[in-house]
Amino acid sequence: RVWNFSAGPAALPEEVLQQAAAEMLDWQGEGVGVMEMSHRGKAFTTIAQAAEADLRELLAVPENYRILFMQGGAIAHNALIPMNLMGDRKVADYVVTGAWSTKSQKEASRYATVNIAASSESSGFTTVPALSDWKLSADPAYVFTCTNETIGGVEYPFEPDLACIGRGEVPVVADMSSHILSRAIDVSKYGLIFGGAQKNIGPAGLTIVIVRDDMLGRAMPHCPSAFDYKTVADNASMYNTPPTYAIYIAGLVFQWLKRQGGVAAIEAQNVAKAKLLYDFIDASGFYQNRIDPACRSRMNVPFFLHDETHNEAFLAESSAAGLAQLKGHKAVGGMRASIYNAMPLAGVHALVDFMRDFAARKA
Ligand code: PLP
Repeated sequence: RVWNFSAGPAALPEEVLQQAAAEMLDWQGEGVGVMEMSHRGKAFTTIAQAAEADLRELLAVPENYRILFMQGGAIAHNALIPMNLMGDRKVADYVVTGAWSTKSQKEASRYATVNIAASSESSGFTTVPALSDWKLSADPAYVFTCTNETIGGVEYPFEPDLACIGRGEVPVVADMSSHILSRAIDVSKYGLIFGGAQKNIGPAGLTIVIVRDDMLGRAMPHCPSAFDYKTVADNASMYNTPPTYAIYIAGLVFQWLKRQGGVAAIEAQNVAKAKLLYDFIDASGFYQNRIDPACRSRMNVPFFLHDETHNEAFLAESSAAGLAQLKGHKAVGGMRASIYNAMPLAGVHALVDFMRDFAARKA
């Protein structure tokens, strides 16, 4: 296997894939694989309940929050969030820090009046506006944030705790698609956390929603029943058939993460991995990262070659050296290395060694 730096769907822990392969035809003596099981049967119920309990433990999710296993991906939930949370309110506040939150606010404006409470667009989306600069509207249904911008490589260096600006009553919604489980968070600071699974959790097709009880039951009348968070919560994510195989793999990833020592232990590794790569880039004179150092993502590291005429050679040679998927997002250009939980420190060392060697040969 190669070192896979894809932004998502992304590398999964090898142990997880091996266990899934071993259980593919016969899950624990059931005589069938997980893909072939009824979602309402005893075996799959055990799998789903364990996955939920492990996720709850890993993120220390308080009891007054529900964990939903849904479909649609984060982009569908950009619409489902206003559909579910606006209630009687007219306005939703959005903090725009890059491509994903831009997309989220545009989608929300189809269902609500959107107020841009803060934006880092004038910086070229290289930073996160300080909480003290957020201009919330008088009575928003929620404040939307994307706490890790996968494309731009910008991550919140603080938790958006609105109590710090005297607005603790307003629920915070966070798209954590690309950094959930990579760092410790205080779930109680959020009204709703969501994300697609295909970066740090498991296969595409599963969307995780963690929602505070009091946010449920406000859906717009035309919100599809299968996407009404209260209906999904009331039916333990089994109102319709959930993405069963993706839930099973996510459950294996949660168990793997617990064996690594949980979120605090993986966070320490993520800090070390990101430091290794950013320190090398900064000192190289050959590569650069343009993000405010305080807001650099630990998960998604975009970088540029000072001399971009070497881009094609960099991609061809890195690929030949077993370093896959380093091409930057088309909206940004350059390169991007995504180093999620499943990427070991050894993979980042391999990348840095290649980058050092390439620079020495081309400089
Ligand atoms: N939000 C963020 C932060 C993402 O990285 C992505 C990436 O895929 C999305 C939303 C879109 O998710 P999906 O393609 O699962 O709808």
